[in-house]
Amino acid sequence: MLLMICILPLQSKEVHPTQKLPRKEKESRSRPSITDLPLPPTLLGGDASPPQSPIRQAPLLPQTALKKRPKICCPRYGERKHTQSDWGKRCVDKFDIIGIIGEGTYGQVYKAKDKDTGELVALKKVRLDNEKEGFPITAIREIKILRQLKHRSVVNMKEIVTDKQDALDFKKDKGAFYLVFEYMDHDLMGLLESGLVQFSQEHIRSFMRQLMEGLDYCHKNNFLHRDIKCSNILLNNRGQIKLADFGLARLYNSEESRPYTNKVITLWYRPPELLLGEERYSPAIDVWSCGCILGELFTKRPIFQANQELLQLELISRLCGSPCPAVWPDVIKLPLFNTMKPKKQYRRRLREEFAVLPTPALELLDQMLTLDPARRCTAEQALSCDFLCDIEPSRMPPPE
Ligand code: ADP
Ligand code: MG
Repeated sequence: MLLMICILPLQSKEVHPTQKLPRKEKESRSRPSITDLPLPPTLLGGDASPPQSPIRQAPLLPQTALKKRPKICCPRYGERKHTQSDWGKRCVDKFDIIGIIGEGTYGQVYKAKDKDTGELVALKKVRLDNEKEGFPITAIREIKILRQLKHRSVVNMKEIVTDKQDALDFKKDKGAFYLVFEYMDHDLMGLLESGLVQFSQEHIRSFMRQLMEGLDYCHKNNFLHRDIKCSNILLNNRGQIKLADFGLARLYNSEESRPYTNKVITLWYRPPELLLGEERYSPAIDVWSCGCILGELFTKRPIFQANQELLQLELISRLCGSPCPAVWPDVIKLPLFNTMKPKKQYRRRLREEFAVLPTPALELLDQMLTLDPARRCTAEQALSCDFLCDIEPSRMPPPE
């Protein structure tokens, strides 16, 4: 179970820390570490990487690939400059826990302080004691993806620590892992719900610019986030925005379309193509979610709040018009187009409903909330629209 974390592939530029360890340091290390534990047997037919989606198995790898031994992952090259410890080997007692800041899917999220550097971090706990299947697959997926992403608008995972002093203790009981992130002061949901901050139009521009830069970066690297919503957008007191929570993210193939699991994205932020059963979706799904957030930043409440899928599509139709071949030619091919048909045909009223928005913002909202995913703007196009093209987030004073 513990060793499942060792499966993460090393990037080509990375050098395994133990390979470069000076002889003296190597010899002086007395207590067993993760690397000292025996590796699992190589199983024929056993795919070491997580499945592509919760409902689909990855194709079997060629025999030669299966014979490869798993590699212990380590920080990205150059990430930790002054460290004697390796990725996954430091213990969580290197941090002073300050308090709980969130409830994660697989455990709490804590605010903590690095005892050595005084730096604030967020520790996302991955509990293993409830897990029958070993290390949770969503955590593996999140770690694997976050290790490949490095951008100022994507939350930075600094390292992984355990709650065991000694790796051999994992043999006695299950314990936990913690993903260590740079600390962010707020998430957008908490901030909007608190009603304590007033965002000016310039702040909204700055937030959207940063969000779309982060998203454009993910999409250019072929990752879909698949769960963009306010609680997964983090903000610090300097007005910086970072996209977080890659537990549902996945790599996608931009060359050939293939089906992925359809049950992704929290209902309120879910685009019409997913509600209509599309499995061959594209990065446009994330752009829709960001469009919902742009609307929400102005209205201060989620713009489509239904509690079930049919009603969600109804709310979208009332604002954006009913999905029909005239505006979305391929909609008739979607599995649920006939079953999910609303009783009434609605016309698009988005520009009337959001008439109070400044024109450039309204223009962007209209583009992002386009029903047809093929006609919806991309993250890259959003960045060059009038609302976002000339804002410099680093020069913006943070909101009060
Ligand atoms: P989950 O997969 O359970 O939704 P998240 O990564 O979204 O886990 O974390 C849950 C909550 O914890 C977030 O909504 C946010 O409030 C808080 N949180 C997560 N990461 C950080 C961070 N780096 N800094 C501050 N708070 C964070
Ligand atoms: Mg989350």
